[in-house]
Amino acid sequence: MRYRHAALWNRPVSTLGFGASPLGGVYGAFDESDGIKAVHQAVEAGINFFDVAPFYGYTRAETALGKALSSLPRDQYLLSTKIGRYGEREFDFSAARTRQSLQESLDRLQTDVLDLVICHDIEYVNPEIVTEEALPVLQEYKQQGIIKAIGLSGYPLPALQDLITKSGSFDVVLTYGHFNLFNTTLLAALPFFQEHGLSVIAASPLAQGLLTAGGVPEWHTASPLLQQACQAATTHCKQAGISLAQLAMQYAATLEGVITTLVGMGTTKEVEQNTSWWEALIDPALLAEVQAIFAPVKDMSW
Ligand code: NAD
Repeated sequence: MRYRHAALWNRPVSTLGFGASPLGGVYGAFDESDGIKAVHQAVEAGINFFDVAPFYGYTRAETALGKALSSLPRDQYLLSTKIGRYGEREFDFSAARTRQSLQESLDRLQTDVLDLVICHDIEYVNPEIVTEEALPVLQEYKQQGIIKAIGLSGYPLPALQDLITKSGSFDVVLTYGHFNLFNTTLLAALPFFQEHGLSVIAASPLAQGLLTAGGVPEWHTASPLLQQACQAATTHCKQAGISLAQLAMQYAATLEGVITTLVGMGTTKEVEQNTSWWEALIDPALLAEVQAIFAPVKDMSW
């Protein structure tokens, strides 16, 4: 595993991080004991960054991750969770709910300290509720040492940039789906984040299932055109003897200027594949062929 020094926590962070949303069954049926084994295997492979949220599986992912990590020394890993999103359409960034959520997350994750707490999917709410209600509570917990860093996440890059412009309280931005085989719009946004003093976490190198043979979950909003391009790329990679998921992970591993890239994993097989693909060199000819397949949907959002 490769590491980058993160000044924020004054320690090396694995360039591949563990996204725990699959531990909540977000991508379909899920066996908790498999998930716990996956977390342990990830630690053995050198992954030391774990991200979760109360929303994932309506608290199930936090509970499973807490169980998995409880047998490990707390200084072996960095732990990130979120506040503000509690359901598909349930958002609450009020001060009272933020306090309650933090306490519940600490309990479920069986810890006294959260290395990062992220305001989850801020594009769905009025920015003022985040700046006036949630952020003062997060800052108070940070002063007490219970939270080490404060972040924000969301899909549209302009929404993240707007809120960062409005508040100087954020240490980290988590952006997803903006650096992968068909979308590289994160690259143009990185200087903005860096100029504002934010550390960046890139998530979803497999485009939330789009770049896997398993395809997308029913909640995914990718257009039929994008899904067809992914199917064509899947067939092309298969003919070349590798999976599209493998090429996608190898491509994501080339990203510089971020703390870590989070991939969602729920099984030991996924951990084994992703940690080995992460270190494997990409075939530039195959990459160019697949990028040509994706040219008609280049930088397409979902
Ligand atoms: P992802 O692109 O990492 O894809 C995850 C999907 O790919 C899951 O179905 C997983 O089972 C599957 N997968 C993983 N490894 C595979 C392999 N080797 N072969 C085939 N399939 C494989 O998407 P994600 O999980 O949404 O993103 C990663 C993490 O980033 C999340 O778990 C979460 O922690 C974080 N995230 C946060 C936000 C937010 O804050 N709004 C949004 C997206 C992601």
